Amino acid sequence: MPIHILPASLVSQIAAGEVVERPASVVKELIENAIDAGATDLTIETRDGGRSFIRISDNGSGIPAAEVELAFGRHATSKLASVDDLNHITTLGFRGEALASIASVAKVICMTRSREETVGTRITVEGGSIVERSSIGAPAGTVITVENLFYTVPARLKFLKSDTTERRQIDTLISRYAMAYPTIRFNLIHNGRTSFQTTGNGSLPDVLIAVYGVEVAEQMISLTSQPPLREHPLGLPTANDAPSGEGERVRVAGYISAPTLSRANRSDMTIFVNGRWVQDRGLNAAVLQAYHTLLMVGRFPLFIIRVELNPEDVDVNVHPAKTEVRFRSSDAIFRVVQRSVRRTLIDHAPIPQVQPSTPASTWQPSFDTHEAPSSHLARLEQLRSLQPVQSSVDRGSGIGDQGFAQVRGPETPTVVGGPSSEVEPPVANNQLPPLRVIGQIGALYVIAEGPDGMYLIDQHAAHERVLYERFMADKAALNIAVQHLLDPIPVEVSPDESTLLEEHREVLSAIGLQLEPFGSSTWLVRSIPALLINDDIRVALNELVADLIAGDLPFAANEEAKLITRVCKRAAIKGGQVLSLPEMNELIRQLELCVSPRTCPHGRPTMIHFSASQMAREFGRI
Ligand code: ADP
Ligand code: MG
Repeated sequence: MPIHILPASLVSQIAAGEVVERPASVVKELIENAIDAGATDLTIETRDGGRSFIRISDNGSGIPAAEVELAFGRHATSKLASVDDLNHITTLGFRGEALASIASVAKVICMTRSREETVGTRITVEGGSIVERSSIGAPAGTVITVENLFYTVPARLKFLKSDTTERRQIDTLISRYAMAYPTIRFNLIHNGRTSFQTTGNGSLPDVLIAVYGVEVAEQMISLTSQPPLREHPLGLPTANDAPSGEGERVRVAGYISAPTLSRANRSDMTIFVNGRWVQDRGLNAAVLQAYHTLLMVGRFPLFIIRVELNPEDVDVNVHPAKTEVRFRSSDAIFRVVQRSVRRTLIDHAPIPQVQPSTPASTWQPSFDTHEAPSSHLARLEQLRSLQPVQSSVDRGSGIGDQGFAQVRGPETPTVVGGPSSEVEPPVANNQLPPLRVIGQIGALYVIAEGPDGMYLIDQHAAHERVLYERFMADKAALNIAVQHLLDPIPVEVSPDESTLLEEHREVLSAIGLQLEPFGSSTWLVRSIPALLINDDIRVALNELVADLIAGDLPFAANEEAKLITRVCKRAAIKGGQVLSLPEMNELIRQLELCVSPRTCPHGRPTMIHFSASQMAREFGRI
């Protein structure tokens, strides 16, 4: 075939492929247009998963009669005038492609009236050409109907999934936008039936209830925006300073799940940047990093986080579907997100509580600060006013180490906020209530009494938490206790493991494990973290290597935290170890000093709380 220029209609269809992939992408473009037009009320109707019918009605600005045809032209937009404007985009649309693309692959009917005009316009576009135009009486706003999607490109039709799947994509999309825009009223109707609705009253908790239901929504915590770390709270220098203060122009808001709530996949991790739903691996990783040690491995949080920053600091013109962005200073933004999430979690981490009359094996964690309210309104109130437990206990310093050879001297609880080694100032409101040790059962659990009932504490998990926070604090203070070995211990490894050790020598040495190659498959251990002093170093090294192999964590800092977690796990008192009363007292005192005393570094609970009122209920006293 000789080279030739493609006909315009074919060019449109090829280009449309990038913008309109499935019914949900049509819905996305149309609701973004409505949001850009200042709409506060949006109705989305679909039939057959959007395949045969999609209609978006809005009460936005409408399109002036003289511009309606133009709106369907390729690269026709009212949102961008010059190249300069590209640098600070404040609207969701700007490429002028959506209407043209949709109209080239479906039949589109547009009814619209501009707020400034008295008469509205109706046009029908089929296969990219305008086939009908008339003046109509209509309320201000725009109604766009899309029929028989992809009828001009049957190949595309074949790629669509079942109606249910396509419909689910639309459900997800609308619920995400509803969370990002709580002031807009959304009404989603599938096959003539309303399936999702929000009031547009501006309350994100209300939208969370509409999306996830009350049970889940009440385990979501309001995110507090943290400024970037400018200096170490103890006056030490820090490497985390935002270079030019760019992080200061970043604000985050939204809701994140308490550690008691998680999912097996990432599908409820939602981030909006300047009102735009984006898929950003880096930002997601920043949030996951903040959950490190609070969630079990393989579990993921739920969150809706809105990041707001100066439009000049973010490039949105990366992809036609506009779901990716590029940040001018991504590090500063990641840090703000990570710190904000971490701080919020640390301030709110709850103690799991046994539900009344629930078999012990299936207990559900919940906040211990409130009784479960029965009415919807009471639950809503609870969600809004969720406050962490306050403790009045006087936390004296100078706590000794008797009974715990591995744990070193008294320290103020300067604790590291996460794997990125940011130092967080200690906070009061996640502290444990004063606990009195009663005894031990099964050589596994410590029983203690608090101001409100009984606490069952997992001795191994609790000690892991104590050791982990101490290790992190020591590391931040460049003060890790290391045991140098007079006689280095040779350890045999496989060639694969040898390469792995070579690659990770630095991070291993940062936690106190110094290794030296000795022949092709042998390494000499020169020093070990003091915590491992009584351990079989060969076994410990094998486990550390196994952790490195299993690691798919995105940041090196996470790798380090994982290794530290392993060291602490090995060093912690084991289940099955009988403890004396002073030993148990000491363990509880040390746990009280932790910033996150309620979970072990793997995210499992360190304790379960049986409140006095629950016990009374169980015994039929009330
Ligand atoms: P873009 O959104 O990138 O500008 P579109 O093809 O989506 O491109 O829309 C073209 C133009 O049509 C928009 O710039 C806007 O002026 C107008 N428009 C589209 N939808 C609406 C709507 N719902 N309300 C008001 N104006 C709209
Ligand atoms: Mg648009």
